[in-house]
Amino acid sequence: MPLNDSGADAEPRALLMFRDYTEAYTRRAELATFAGTVAHDLRNPLSAIEGWTEMLEDEVSSGGIDPALVGSFIQQQRLATSRMHSLIGDLLDHATSGNRRIEVEKVDLGEIVHAIAQSRGVTSMVRCAELPWVSADRVLVSQVLDNLIGNALKYVAPGVVPHVVVTGSTAGAGWARITVTDNGIGLPPGEQERIFQEFHRAHGTQYDGTGLGLAIVRRIVIRHGGTITARNRDDGGGSIFELTLPAYS
Ligand code: ADP
Repeated sequence: MPLNDSGADAEPRALLMFRDYTEAYTRRAELATFAGTVAHDLRNPLSAIEGWTEMLEDEVSSGGIDPALVGSFIQQQRLATSRMHSLIGDLLDHATSGNRRIEVEKVDLGEIVHAIAQSRGVTSMVRCAELPWVSADRVLVSQVLDNLIGNALKYVAPGVVPHVVVTGSTAGAGWARITVTDNGIGLPPGEQERIFQEFHRAHGTQYDGTGLGLAIVRRIVIRHGGTITARNRDDGGGSIFELTLPAYS
């Protein structure tokens, strides 16, 4: 843009403006990938429901209805519907975990862990040492612990009774460290970082899930200024998730 207000004798001047759009383009590309994956993941159960509905129609129009067969078609429809419900629930959590204003208060993590174990009906499977108090958003931190404990209970070998231990310690001045240890199947080699990416699943389809839980967890921890890592136990008997949050002082 030429600048003409500097008088007839002055050197001609121009104003150049640079704007960095890299972040905006990256965010747009991320959103497009996100929307594509959501559409794909929602279409799967929807197609299943359509398929089972067609089977039901065929069975009904054939005249001789087999109640056991009809029951199993309906059961499959229920499973697909509940997969859609949990994906939509996780998507909503994902959206709110990034946008919801953080309301910092004094939070008793022990109380939260007990409430989670009770509401999941697994008080005998979750052991909780004395945990530090933190300065954090109670709702978001509950979401973090619920996701980590839920995973610890889910990713166990068939027939194994899950055991989850939640411990706490200080992690330098002003920070609390919380660990969630399980007796599950552990993480495949090279997955420790990738499991925190949106929609990334490390164990295929034999375990239900959307691949959003840990992305939500990491986002919440980062919004509190903390960090989160995952690793396998040294004895190979499960995994350990370790996070830091601002300690209450
Ligand atoms: P989801 O459980 O819905 O698949 P998450 O984002 O919570 O999604 O977890 C991502 C992946 O990380 C899981 O699919 C699983 O492969 C792995 N994972 C998470 N927690 C554990 C755990 N406690 N033990 C073993 N693997 C885990």
